[in-house]
Amino acid sequence: MQRAPAAIDLIVIQSSAGSSDAPPVQDASRPGRSRCATCGRPQPACLCAWITPVAHEVEVLILQHPLEVHHPKGSARLLHLSLPRSRLVTGEVFADAALLGAPFEAPGAVANAPRHNLLLYPDMPQDHALGVPAPPAVPTRWLREPARLRLIVLDGTWRKSRKMLYLSPPLQALPRLSLQDPAASSYRIRKAHRPDQLSTLEATCAALARLEGGADRFQPLLAAFDGFVRQQMGWSGQVPSRPGR
Ligand SMILES: [Zn+2]
Repeated sequence: MQRAPAAIDLIVIQSSAGSSDAPPVQDASRPGRSRCATCGRPQPACLCAWITPVAHEVEVLILQHPLEVHHPKGSARLLHLSLPRSRLVTGEVFADAALLGAPFEAPGAVANAPRHNLLLYPDMPQDHALGVPAPPAVPTRWLREPARLRLIVLDGTWRKSRKMLYLSPPLQALPRLSLQDPAASSYRIRKAHRPDQLSTLEATCAALARLEGGADRFQPLLAAFDGFVRQQMGWSGQVPSRPGR
């Protein structure tokens, strides 16, 4: 079990893809309502049926804004439970660079092997005027070794993820991967007109396909996410929309 740095108030959820045997956990905030021990959601909204394990090489560290934790249509939990080499950490400020250097205890991971951190975030010129330094370029040799990479993903609204970046100098110092890069355009962006409209799950799958190749591998997970979203919309009485078609 990995420990979060004590200086930051973090919730660390280890990957547990495929394990759903644990008993339900009582939700202390809502007496009488139990939560699934695997996905952490209320039992009627358990998403475990949609978990779709995908083989991948690049580690994924998902930094989730606290306001996203209980969002009914949030995609980060499903993403985390489907990616064996992922870790989900909740917080708004990530000021301790040790978090980025900590090795994962993922199955098959080489113990203590250092990884190059790459932030999935566009470089916005207007951010520089507000004090965020321009990120360093991605060393091209990094891209030749996906098994040595770790992708850092911010899970929050555009506004919240931007705030996370502003408040977290260690994140600002990372080279970035932007889905707006021309090289990423071969990936079929689904249900979105712009990369920043993608969910965290979709954006991460696009980034992994860009870094590792083999976009087809992620289609089952993307299809599962579609089903999950449709289910959520059904429960809230909405008709699933089909933007981008
Ligand atoms: Zn569940």
